Amino acid sequence: MNVAIKQFIDENNCLPGQVFSFNANTKTITYVPEELENSDGSLALLHEIAHMRLGHYSYNYDVELLGLEHEAWEETRRLAHEYNIEVDEDHITECLESYDKWLDKRATCPKCGEYSLQKDRSTFGCFACDCHWKVNERKDREVRKRIISKIQDAGDKTQTIIKSQNTKQLVPCVLSLVASINSAIHYL
Ligand SMILES: [Zn+2]
Ligand SMILES: [Zn+2]
Repeated sequence: MNVAIKQFIDENNCLPGQVFSFNANTKTITYVPEELENSDGSLALLHEIAHMRLGHYSYNYDVELLGLEHEAWEETRRLAHEYNIEVDEDHITECLESYDKWLDKRATCPKCGEYSLQKDRSTFGCFACDCHWKVNERKDREVRKRIISKIQDAGDKTQTIIKSQNTKQLVPCVLSLVASINSAIHYL
C-alpha cells in the first residue's frame, strides 16, 4: 500500500468495510482494505477523501449529486498527483457513467419511458403521462420505483413497486449525505 495513503488512514476516521463510502454526518470514510493494493482502489479512497475535504454535506436533487461527483473526481486527480498515485481516466469515466445511468433510471417514467422531472429528493413526475413515482435512496441497491398518485400518502401499501430491469446498478462511491430540507440522515 502507498505509504501516504496508509498514513492518511491511520490519522483519520477511516474504517475497513465492504464499500468505499463517505458519511458526511459522522465524517467517516469506509474503505475496502484488499482493494487498496491496486491503483483503482487507492483512487477510490482518494475520491472519498476528496468528498471529505470539499466538505460535501447535502444536496436536494440528483443533478446536484452528479455535480458533487464531478467535483470530487476533479479533486481526486489533484490528490492523486500529491500522493503519487496513477490516475486511470477510464476508471473515472466508468464511475461517472455509472452515476449517469443510475440517475437516468430514477428519472425514466415507469409508465411511458419519458425522461422526467425530479420533484423532490425522492419523487419524480412525468411531463408526458402525468405519472408520479417515488424512488429508493440506496445507491448500492438496484433502483426501485413506486408509482404514487399525486395526492396519495407515500406510505400507502397498495402502490405498485417497479424494480429496474437490470439486476444490479452499483455506483462506485456511496455518499451518505444529510438532506438539507429536514436534516434527517439518508443512507444512500
Ligand atoms: Zn410518463
Ligand atoms: Zn463520490
